Amino acid sequence: MRRALRTTTKKRVQVRLPGKRSTVHFKKERVKGAHCLRCGQLLSGVPRLPPSKISRLALTEKKTERPFSEQLCHNCLRTLIKQAVRTSPL
Ligand SMILES: [Zn+2]
Repeated sequence: MRRALRTTTKKRVQVRLPGKRSTVHFKKERVKGAHCLRCGQLLSGVPRLPPSKISRLALTEKKTERPFSEQLCHNCLRTLIKQAVRTSPL
């Protein structure tokens, strides 16, 4: 087995070949992607890449210009800002 494949991050799958032989194939690392902390919606503007590749990107490629864009979706941020403004003492 190749040195790079000796890891637990890749799933191993037994595959039956046409000549009735069976070998092990390796599935790619699956990435769930960043989700909103409040509603669980998949965040747009955040690339769906493994952490090893996200770390190589520039900051502007990882998030949008909106505040809390790497944690909250636009709807949740909007409602939270509204709540904060309405409950703040004048
Ligand atoms: Zn949300």
